[in-house]
Amino acid sequence: MSAGADEQADAVVVGAGLTGLVAAVRLAQAARGRRVLLLEAGAEPGGRARTTEHHGFRLGLGPRALYRTTRDGLRALGVRVPGRSPDLGGARALRDGVLHPGYAAAGPLLRTPLLTLRERVAVARLLGLARGRSDLAGTDAAQWLGDRLPTERARQAAFAVLRISSYTGRPDLIGADALSLHFAEVRRGVEYVDGGWRTLTDALLARARELGVELRTGWRCAVVEGGPRPRIVSADGHAVRSRSVVLAGLPQRAAGQLLGLAEAGADSPAARPLHTACLDVALSRLPDPRSTLVFGVDEPLYLSVFSRTARLAPQGGAVVHLARYDDGSGLGASEVRKRLYELLDLSQPGWRDAVVHERFLPRITTMTALPEARTGGLTGRPGVRVPGHQGVFVAGDWVGPHGLLADACVLSATRAAEAAAARL
Ligand SMILES: Cc1cc2nc3c(=O)[nH]c(=O)nc-3n(C[C@H](O)[C@H](O)[C@H](O)COP(=O)(O)OP(=O)(O)OC[C@H]3O[C@@H](n4cnc5c(N)ncnc54)[C@H](O)[C@@H]3O)c2cc1C
Repeated sequence: MSAGADEQADAVVVGAGLTGLVAAVRLAQAARGRRVLLLEAGAEPGGRARTTEHHGFRLGLGPRALYRTTRDGLRALGVRVPGRSPDLGGARALRDGVLHPGYAAAGPLLRTPLLTLRERVAVARLLGLARGRSDLAGTDAAQWLGDRLPTERARQAAFAVLRISSYTGRPDLIGADALSLHFAEVRRGVEYVDGGWRTLTDALLARARELGVELRTGWRCAVVEGGPRPRIVSADGHAVRSRSVVLAGLPQRAAGQLLGLAEAGADSPAARPLHTACLDVALSRLPDPRSTLVFGVDEPLYLSVFSRTARLAPQGGAVVHLARYDDGSGLGASEVRKRLYELLDLSQPGWRDAVVHERFLPRITTMTALPEARTGGLTGRPGVRVPGHQGVFVAGDWVGPHGLLADACVLSATRAAEAAAARL
């Protein structure tokens, strides 16, 4: 297609997952009256925050907890989502194949027979007083816990709690700054969202439309040519010119490839993704209403009955999410699935008779790039501007010095959108 026939827009956002939806809303707010296009390769927006519906049950792609930073970021855009905090007091801990009263909250932690008094106090201090330490950039979490806790058992117990909120099973890799800052954030409270994260992406999309954003689905971006007015070209040759473009939610390597920086992406030391295995289950009834939250201690497992807290199931039914975090052990998908079933058997005996729907995701990407100690943790992540490409900005879970998971998406999307709007 010749440049003369290019479609014109003021700003373009590529990718309509959570990051792209936030970026589009913020851009449209900051540049009222300008033409903002939101281009999505898939058939619908939402990306990894999608929720599917089965006979009235809402199933997220794996478990989802909304952190305060994300919630506050959405509120600042005029988007409120209904949800509630899960009760951590009744959590159970899985150790040696047996369920014990858990220690996810301060009370149970200080009483648990799984740790000695000295261990309990040390773990409680670490978790209870974690304020977030940016000076820990460059230190891995294994070393941080090793320095602060007296025994391997105490380290395992603390990491069991930290793992749930960060999704990482690799204390030897993740930067202690990222883990401690994130945990301090999580202690401010988390919420399970009524209707699943679809509620959140639908609300963002409605807000974007209200502000005049135009969404195009089935539009896969293949190339972004830099310059004072970047040119965004689709896989089938359609081209759009605009003053600013935000590449939103694309992994670092994919964004680099669109910009012709493939070699930089391939060598990037920050490009190691984090995967998780998830089992999402809809049940017509919950066999054991007391067993609704389980943290694995000696194995990176998790189970939560989300419908106990959020509206996700029809009357009497239940939505249960299970996960096994990648700990580098290299277990095959069938073995992982077997262990998730074993946890469900233990927590909810008889569940098989009540299955309405189940979905196993052996390897979904929870973070496109883990903030590793060796790359400087959070402070080692790239910023929203792409050196040498004025008018091109990036946002996503691998961008910016703040936040993990959706928090990083919302913070970097807001920052990128403001920088993009400033060029209009
Ligand atoms: C199992 C699981 C559990 C999670 N739990 C939590 C949690 O509890 N709390 C939390 O805060 N976060 C959680 N997260 C993380 C959170 O869901 C993600 O950080 C967030 O949804 C990522 O959004 P994104 O827009 O950056 O990326 P994506 O959702 O991946 O969206 C990117 C979008 O870009 C589109 N795209 C890609 N390439 C192109 C192209 N070339 N042209 C056009 N479009 C393109 C894709 O189709 C996609 O729609 C979890 C993630 C997973 C997988």
